[in-house]
Amino acid sequence: MITISRVHELRAHCDTARATGKSVGFVPTMGSFHLGHRSLMRRARDENGLVVVSLFVNPLQFAPSEDLSAYPRDLAGDAAVAEAEGIDVLFVPSTEEMYPQPVHTTVRVDGLTAGLCGRSRPTHFDGVTTVVAKLFSIVGPCRAYFGRKDFQQLMVVRRMASDLDLPVEVVGCPLVREPDGVAMSSRNRYLDPDDRRAATVLSRALHEAATAVSDGERNPDAVHRALTGLIATEPRVRLDYAEVVDTSDLAPVTTIAGEVLVAIAAYVGRARLIDNMTVSVTNTGLDVDLGVVVQESEV
Ligand code: AMP
Repeated sequence: MITISRVHELRAHCDTARATGKSVGFVPTMGSFHLGHRSLMRRARDENGLVVVSLFVNPLQFAPSEDLSAYPRDLAGDAAVAEAEGIDVLFVPSTEEMYPQPVHTTVRVDGLTAGLCGRSRPTHFDGVTTVVAKLFSIVGPCRAYFGRKDFQQLMVVRRMASDLDLPVEVVGCPLVREPDGVAMSSRNRYLDPDDRRAATVLSRALHEAATAVSDGERNPDAVHRALTGLIATEPRVRLDYAEVVDTSDLAPVTTIAGEVLVAIAAYVGRARLIDNMTVSVTNTGLDVDLGVVVQESEV
């Protein structure tokens, strides 16, 4: 594995790989790697000749009140993980390298960013799409791997790539959970042991909602009540939102039909955590996707 910190070097490296017939797989991250990140790396490794992982804590996607300075950073540990996953290039630009001059260009996806996390983080997705557009421009034609844990982000990035005709195939990958069900997140490091136990209520609420839908519930308000009722029993958890939306436009549904996303965001201790599941209702049956749970031995 080589580590690259300059934009022009990464661009040249990817161009050379493509010129020799290799496909490029790209995994954008903010580092502090866990098995969620590693699952994206493994998929990218399986499917491509050259795999690039970027590690950049992007200031543009943090509001002034958010955790930019506290965000966990562990470059040496991350480099070891990426190397162990067989990554070819770790791209670690400085903030000055990514933003050498004041940013006067913002890439903004309307509509999909209005609800869910966009409501409480109104500048967040503009920061995400602006940096991801820059990264896609630097890496060039590639497959880019994103986790369904950040379902709204995946939809927003996919729409950006489509609207702008970017030569990037955006690949969505399963949400990865800890053995106790908590969705893996770099921000789980903020949780003390009591918060960590409390955080399990989010995935337990999703399981309860999944059971209700499997038992025939099709009223999103009833699912919402089931989610909020259970989460309210946990005093350490302050709900931001629990919503049932259509996966295509992320707008609230009036009945559970087709493919819907059940998404939650909540504050636990210092962390703001998100979690979700998708439910597909078809003529032939029901498919609930809660992601994958890793074994204790893998953590
Ligand atoms: P981050 O470093 O948090 O910005 O995440 C980088 C990528 O990893 C994004 O595409 C995330 O959706 C993905 N990711 C983070 N956590 C998980 C998880 N628990 N399961 C699957 N993908 C994840």
